[in-house]
Amino acid sequence: MKRMTDALRSGAKMLSEHCPICGSPIFEIKEELWCLRCNKRVVKVKSDEEVGSALSVYTLMNTASIISVKIEELTILLSRAIEVDEIRKISETLEVLLKTLEQTLKVRRLLKEET
Ligand SMILES: [Zn+2]
Repeated sequence: MKRMTDALRSGAKMLSEHCPICGSPIFEIKEELWCLRCNKRVVKVKSDEEVGSALSVYTLMNTASIISVKIEELTILLSRAIEVDEIRKISETLEVLLKTLEQTLKVRRLLKEET
């Protein structure tokens, strides 16, 4: 109780939400949410679905940029390749990467449209 009054005095805001563990009101202190009874920071999580799709868009963004780097590296390798076999291998890999990149961007667009 003392901690709560101290916090309120120092400008903390009492919210209408309650701590999922002890049920005490949650306080907003310097833009962070705290349960003063547990003396722990509270992190608000949106619904699983929201987190899931946010994660996917983020993951796919990484996927796309990694593929782009690989395409760049392979292009350099291709420019140096002399043997027919090597050229063919690199070309095939490039083809797969380009297709994957296209798919990645397509799925990412779809996910973004949903949100
Ligand atoms: Zn608590």
